[in-house]
Amino acid sequence: MSDTVRSVAIIGAGLAGANVAAGLRSHGYAGHVTLVGSESHLPYERPPLTKDVLAGVMAVDQTAVHPAEFYQDNEIELVLGEPVDALDLSERSVVLARGRRLRADRVVLCTGVSPRRLGVPGEDLEGVHSVRDREDSQALRNAAERGDPIVVIGEGFIGTEVASTLARQGCDVTVLMGRDLPVQPVLGADAGAWLAQQHRVNGVRLRPSTPPRAIIGTSSVQGVELADGSVVPASAVVVGIGSIPSGQSLASDAGITTRDGVVVDGVGRSSVPEVFATGDLARFPTSSYGEIRVEHWQHAIQHAQVVAAAIVGVEQAPYAGVPWVWTEQFGRRWEIAGLPQRGTDVVRRGDPDSDEGALWAFTNDSRVVAAVALGRRRELRAVLRSLEGPVSLMTPQFVDESVDVRRALVAEAW
Ligand SMILES: Cc1cc2nc3c(=O)[nH]c(=O)nc-3n(C[C@H](O)[C@H](O)[C@H](O)COP(=O)(O)OP(=O)(O)OC[C@H]3O[C@@H](n4cnc5c(N)ncnc54)[C@H](O)[C@@H]3O)c2cc1C
Repeated sequence: MSDTVRSVAIIGAGLAGANVAAGLRSHGYAGHVTLVGSESHLPYERPPLTKDVLAGVMAVDQTAVHPAEFYQDNEIELVLGEPVDALDLSERSVVLARGRRLRADRVVLCTGVSPRRLGVPGEDLEGVHSVRDREDSQALRNAAERGDPIVVIGEGFIGTEVASTLARQGCDVTVLMGRDLPVQPVLGADAGAWLAQQHRVNGVRLRPSTPPRAIIGTSSVQGVELADGSVVPASAVVVGIGSIPSGQSLASDAGITTRDGVVVDGVGRSSVPEVFATGDLARFPTSSYGEIRVEHWQHAIQHAQVVAAAIVGVEQAPYAGVPWVWTEQFGRRWEIAGLPQRGTDVVRRGDPDSDEGALWAFTNDSRVVAAVALGRRRELRAVLRSLEGPVSLMTPQFVDESVDVRRALVAEAW
C-alpha cells in the first residue's frame, strides 16, 4: 500500500470522530476527509443527555460538537444517517449500508459503545429506555414531564445521574442496584456511602442488591418484578447497566485484532496499519494500567487528536491515557482520575459534608493509582498530574489539610 494518504474515512460521527476530522485539518492535512455516522445528527456531546438536556435547561441542539459551518469551512464531508456495514481492506474502501462504497487510504473506527441489554423478559416494552442518544434523553424527559413513576435499573454513572436529575425535577424515582452502594467499585465504600445518602435525602429510593427478574406490562411498561415476586410500579424504566463496544465486528470481520474493543498501539493504530481506532471503542496500552478501554469524554477528545497526528505522520510520545471522568449529582461535581478499582487502600482528605468537599486517594502499596474528588478541583488536578508522571507515593501528610496536596505526594526514589 502506498504511503500517500489521499483520503481518510472516519466511521462514527460522534465526539471522537469529530475530533479526528478537526485534528487532521489542524495538522494541515489537505486530502479528502469523510465522516460517516449512523445517526442523522451532526456529531454531538453526550454528557448533557443525563444532565442539562434531561433537566430541560439545555436545548438538545446546543450539544453539537461543532456547528454545521465548521464542516463546510474545513471541507469535511459528512455522510449522516447511514451506518457502515463493512470494511473492504483489499479494495481500500468502506461499504455503507445502502451499498455505496467510499474509497479510503486510512480508516478510523470510532463507533463508540451501545447500552448493555438486561436480558430479562419485557425489556422491549414501550417505556423502557436506555440513555445513549438524543432521542433516548428526549423520550425520558417526556416521561418525566408526565409525572410517571420511574424505575432506574443500574447504579453506575448513567443510572445515578438520571436518578439525580429526575429527582431534582420532583419525579418519583426508585433505583434498583446490582450492588450495595452507588458507582462501585469506582467511588469506593466511603464516597459511595456518602453519595447514597445524598440520593436518599433527595427522595430517591435506593434498593441495594436488587436485580430485576422481569419488566412487566402488556404493550407498555407497568412495573418491574423482583426476585421475590414483588413488583415495583413504574410507567417508565431506565436501564443503565453498562455498555459494550459497538461496531467491533467491522474490525473483526476484516481480520483486525479485537478484545472487548479494537486493540491499538500507543498512537491508535490497529493490527492493520491503515486502520486506526479511537474513543470508547479503542483498547490501548498504558504504562500505569496496562491495556485499557476508556468510555470518557476527555479521552475521546485527546486520543482522537493523537490518532489524527499519527495519520499525518507527526512524531509524538505514546498516549499517557490516565482516565479522567466527571459526574454531576444533586448540584455537586465529582471527578475521578485514574482507576480507583486498582487500589487496595483508600484515604480521605476533608469532609464531604463541608462546602469544600473531600478528596479520596486510592493507593496500592502506597503508590497512588487514583483519586476521587467531590469539589476540590485543584487538588484533583494535582493528583492527575502526578498520575501522568513518575510513580507517586502518598505520605501521611495527605490527610493534613494545612499541607498542600502536592507535598503529600512524593515521587518514588529509584
Ligand atoms: C448519557 C451519557 C452521559 C455521559 N456523561 C459523561 C460524563 O459526564 N463525563 C464523561 O467523561 N463521559 C461521559 N459520557 C461518555 C462520553 O460521552 C463518551 O465517552 C464519548 O461520547 C465517546 O465518544 P465516541 O466518539 O467514542 O462515541 P460516541 O460519541 O458514542 O459516537 C459513536 C458514534 O458512532 C456511531 N456508529 C456506531 N456504529 C456505526 C456504524 N456501523 N457506522 C457508522 N456510525 C456508527 C454511533 O451511532 C455514534 O453516533 C457519557 C455518555 C453518555 C451516553
